[in-house]
Formats: sequence, C-alpha cells, structure tokens
Amino acid sequence: MTEQQLRILVIGAHPDDCDVKAGGVAALYRAGGHHVRFVSVTNGESGHHKISGPELAAIRKGEATAAGAAIGIEYDVLDHRDGYLEPTLEARFGMIALIRKFQPDLILTHRPNDYHPDHRYTSQLVCDAAYMVTVPPVVPDVPALRDNPVIAYLSDDFQRPYPFSPTVIVDIEPVLDKVVDMLDCHKSQFYEWLPYNHFFEESVPEDAAARREWLGGMFRERIAPVAEKYRDLLVEIYGEEKGRQIRFAEAFEPCEYGAPLTDKNRGTLFPFVPFSS
Ligand SMILES: [Zn+2]
Repeated sequence: MTEQQLRILVIGAHPDDCDVKAGGVAALYRAGGHHVRFVSVTNGESGHHKISGPELAAIRKGEATAAGAAIGIEYDVLDHRDGYLEPTLEARFGMIALIRKFQPDLILTHRPNDYHPDHRYTSQLVCDAAYMVTVPPVVPDVPALRDNPVIAYLSDDFQRPYPFSPTVIVDIEPVLDKVVDMLDCHKSQFYEWLPYNHFFEESVPEDAAARREWLGGMFRERIAPVAEKYRDLLVEIYGEEKGRQIRFAEAFEPCEYGAPLTDKNRGTLFPFVPFSS
C-alpha cells in the first residue's frame, strides 16, 4: 500500500452512474484511506415516470447523499438539468473550477460515445477541461493546477467508433456488498424508474430486505460480463489462478487528454491492484 493519500474524482452524468461503474473501486480506495468524491453533473430530475422536476431532483440528491454515506465519501449533485446537458463554455468553466478545487490525482468518467446525451456531454466537459485546468488565464478566479490529472474512462459496451479498451481491471468482489448498499440507496431508480423503463416492474419485490437481495442478484448479473470480457487482462494482472477465478470486476481505459495512465503510475493510482511492474 502506498503511503500517499490519493484524491479520486468520479464524474458521472446522473446520480447513480458513478456507483454503478466505479462503486467498487471507490469502496477499495476508502478502505485504503484515500479521498474519493462522486459528482453527478445533472440533477437527475428526469429519471422517473411519475415524478419530475425539483421534486425528483430533491429525492435524488437525498439518495446520492445516502449512497455516498454508505461508503464514507462525498457525493455532489450539480444543478444542470437531467436530459438537458450541453457542453457549453459556461459548463466547461464550471468543470474546470470543480476539478481545480478538488485537485484530483485521477478522474474517472464516461467515454465520449454513449447512448445517453448527458453521458456524452459529461465526457466532453471533462475532456474539454483536461489540460485547460493547468492554464491560469482560463477561469482566473480558481488557481490553476500545475499538473494535468490522469483521466480514465468507465466501462461501457458501445462498439463504435471503437470498443472499450481497458488497461486496468480491478477485482471488486471483496466490496461487492458495499456497492449494492450504495445502489440500494437509489430507490427511485433501481426499484421504480429502471424496472418501469425496461419492462420488469412486476419482478421488484415489495419487502425492503427482499428488494435489496434482488438488486444484488441483478447487479451481479449485470457486471459479470466485465470479468468475462477482459479475462485475459485479469490473468495478466492477477496471475493465472486468481485471474481465472475473479467473477466481478471494474475496468478502466486511459483517456488521452489527461496525463497518461501508464504501466509506471497505474500501481500508484490503483494501489489495491497487484501490478507486477
Ligand atoms: Zn446515466
């Protein structure tokens, strides 16, 4: 374990994106005493079939706060409207200020090509803020960073223009229950909106304990393909025996606009991964 306390900033479009794609590493960083902040760039006000606007935004802010508290991290929800995000100059300047104030060693965010426009523009805002965070005359009221942070992308299944290509993969099975604890806080999403949107409302159990159990099963099913898809990388990093056994993983792809994520610095930035070099 490194003695350096890392500062990790995970930037998703909606209140729950960070949890789904990086909840496991967040729990691992926290267990190692590192500083993690989740940010939802939009307020989540459109993620429901019965409630919307300020009422839903307030519910989702509460859910995000509870999810953050479940693993002891801060969870910020910005006030861009859900479904309305645009990569404007104003939004870029806000992103530059946010990154500068947190001073992250590592930023995790969506890839720029994704089905949801809010995901795409969140990624674009982070990419547009990369490097510019080091340029003092841009957003002059917040001191510029000397170093461009390392940026890596969260996993997805999109194939065009090129499929997700991770160089880091993390066994999250030891903290999987903590991730489910976080997801369980987003009740408006996992027990209401997503089952409605994807036509499986009838399968949501009534009872709170049964629902959590059901959610845990769904989440395991949903992320199992990550370990399967990148099995070679797991074997390369964790060795033949362990690499073949890992069932649940989170994976990350370097973003070219941040400082490079290299064989050299990935061991420092992901201290819970047994890289050999
Ligand atoms: Zn989302």
